Amino acid sequence: MTRLGFDVGGTKILGVATDDGGALKRTLREPTMAGATELVDTLVTMVRELAPAEGAVSVGVGMAGLITIDGIVTISPNLVGVDGATVGADVSAALGLPVVFENEVNCAARWEVAAGAAQGIRHGVMVAVGTGIGGAFMGDGGVLRGANGLAGEPGHMIVEASGRQCPCGRRGCWEMYASGSALDRLAAERLGDAMRGPDVTEAARADDPAAHEVLAEFSYWLALGISNLCVLTDPEMVVIGGGMSEDWDLLAQPVSQHLGDLLIGRTAESLPAVVASEAGELSAALGAALSGALGDGAALSGALGDGVALSGALGETPCG
Ligand SMILES: [Zn+2]
Repeated sequence: MTRLGFDVGGTKILGVATDDGGALKRTLREPTMAGATELVDTLVTMVRELAPAEGAVSVGVGMAGLITIDGIVTISPNLVGVDGATVGADVSAALGLPVVFENEVNCAARWEVAAGAAQGIRHGVMVAVGTGIGGAFMGDGGVLRGANGLAGEPGHMIVEASGRQCPCGRRGCWEMYASGSALDRLAAERLGDAMRGPDVTEAARADDPAAHEVLAEFSYWLALGISNLCVLTDPEMVVIGGGMSEDWDLLAQPVSQHLGDLLIGRTAESLPAVVASEAGELSAALGAALSGALGDGAALSGALGDGVALSGALGETPCG
C-alpha cells in the first residue's frame, strides 16, 4: 500500500509518497495554479506520477485555507479561484478513490503527534509559517477541528487593529506581520527594494548586523501571535512548521526571549518549548498521507481526530 499526501500552499503543491509505515519514498513539487479545475487536474496528474502502477493507494490532500468538515473551501486567501470549491470530492471522483481533504496544518499537526516533535505531548499548538500562517491545536493525542472544521486559523487573528490590509478583507491579521511574505516586505522596507526574506536569513548567517535587526523585529511579531495562542490554550509545546521552520535556528532565541516577556503567569519551567518540526516543510504533506491512510472516520474522530477537551498543560482553563 502506498500512501500519497499533498500539501497545497499559496505558491506550490508538495506531494509525497510513503510506505505503509509512513516512511518517505518520493517527493514531487508543482507550482500552484489559479482556479479549482486547474488545481484538481494538477493533483490528479501528481497522483498518477507519484503512485506506482501496482498496488493500492490512499490519498490525503491538505490545503491552506478554511475547509469545512464537509470538505468545502470557504475561503483560502493565499490561493486564487478556489473559494467554494470541493477539491477533495473532485479529486476523488476523478481517481475513483476516497480522498481525505482538510486544512493542511491540521494534517501537519496530526503527523507531529503521531511521528514528529509532539509525540507524547498532551497540549500543543502548531504554527506553520509559510506564505501565510496556519495553525492547529493538539490535545490529548488529537487535533481540535471545531464545530465546522475551522478551528486553528491564527494567521487571521488580528494583532494590530487598523493595521495592514489582509487579502482576507480585514486589517491587521497576524500573517501580515509574521509570515514569509511579511518577512519579504520587511526586508524590502528595511534593507532595500531588492531584498527578500531569504536574503535576510542568508545575510544573518554571515553575521550581518542589519539582517539580525530585521529578524529581531520579525521575531517580536512571531512571538506576539504565539503568546496569544498560549494565553488561550496553555500548551506545553509550540511546533513551528512551514518553510520558515528551516530557519528556526536563527529565530528560536529571539522568539523565546520575546515570549518570556509577553507571557504572564509563567515561570521559566512552565514556558512552552518552541521547537521546529523535525520534518520541516514536509510535515503537512506527510500528515496528509497519514490522514488519507486513516480515512475519514479514523482521521476525523477518535484517537487522532477531534472530540478533544483542552484543559491546558497546567490544567488551567482560559480566564481561570
Ligand atoms: Zn486576514
